[in-house]
Amino acid sequence: MPHPYSSRKVLVTGGAGFIGSHVADALIAEGANVHVLDNLEGGRLENIPDAAVFHEMDIRDPAVATLFEEEKFAAMVHLAAQMDVRKSVADPAFDAQVNVLGLLNLLEAGRANGLEMVVFTSTGGAIYGDPDPNVNGGGPQPESHPELPASPYGITKLVSEHYLRFFDAAHSLPYVALRFANVYGPRQNPHGEAGVVAIFTERLLRGEQPVINGPGKQTRDYVFVGDVVKAVVSALAFAGSDVINIGTGIETDVNELFEHLNRLTGGRAEEKHGPGMPGEQQRSVLDASYAADVLGWRPEVALADGLAETVAWFKARRDNAPASGITDPVS
Ligand code: NAD
Repeated sequence: MPHPYSSRKVLVTGGAGFIGSHVADALIAEGANVHVLDNLEGGRLENIPDAAVFHEMDIRDPAVATLFEEEKFAAMVHLAAQMDVRKSVADPAFDAQVNVLGLLNLLEAGRANGLEMVVFTSTGGAIYGDPDPNVNGGGPQPESHPELPASPYGITKLVSEHYLRFFDAAHSLPYVALRFANVYGPRQNPHGEAGVVAIFTERLLRGEQPVINGPGKQTRDYVFVGDVVKAVVSALAFAGSDVINIGTGIETDVNELFEHLNRLTGGRAEEKHGPGMPGEQQRSVLDASYAADVLGWRPEVALADGLAETVAWFKARRDNAPASGITDPVS
């Protein structure tokens, strides 16, 4: 059966970025007429598929309204964001300008111009914080887990979900907010929630020694970008509005992650530890059984396989860097 947005116009904000560019690829493969809106702040032109129409624009720009008026998008996958947790702590006002006012700019333009569906890329880890021992025995966190964002980034993602609920109630604009775990894979950068994968891989490929913060027992739920994209494509076809976790339910600590990446890059580095990061979240793991029920979504790529694909991509980019002029993201 063709996808409901096959042959229709879908706007992918942040489509020059890591996850957004994979989403744009997948929607083009589904036959959608994909438009990408990105200010290239963190994204790269070479990530945007040739078949997509590119609008170089900031989501806060008043010109967004004119773009929606002219293009009459049927659906929007909203990924453009200030997505650096540390930057959100250093400059909460900037984080809110991009993540809250940018979203409102898009939603106002959308509701005035016949937008039919929004898929929003939210976060599990930054909204729930450490697992509550009284929920699911302190194991994988369901959507009903208390929401205690510890950073302005987590706060603006949660506020965004509330605005989406408001636009649905007030203007009949349905949405699915996908609360991602830590997404890794080809094209990722060091700033996202799974940035450690990019940082360690780059260092190991350069023959440098990565340093693990503290004892390395901090856990995260690493989900492969290819799996996440399948969730986005299914969510776009979802009838109704909802908030849905997307993760693997598996916790991996930094030492294990280092072990995988060291092996995949030749196994020459030592496990070296530095001082811990004060206030760092210790654990994060999502229960995605609701996604299985309502979207039929399950993660398919095992961590070892996803990391092998990721390392192969970083290696190929490194080998091609002088010719393509791509700069190293970790300085
Ligand atoms: P990314 O930085 O690769 O992509 C974000 C894109 O948004 C970039 O191309 C950037 O240029 C663009 N952008 C930023 N500010 C903009 C603005 N003001 N106007 C227009 N474009 C702008 O990051 P990513 O990891 O692909 O994240 C995509 C989305 O997924 C974000 O909303 C992020 O919060 C969310 N998310 C990511 C993870 C993860 O682990 N990577 C986890 C949870 C949620």
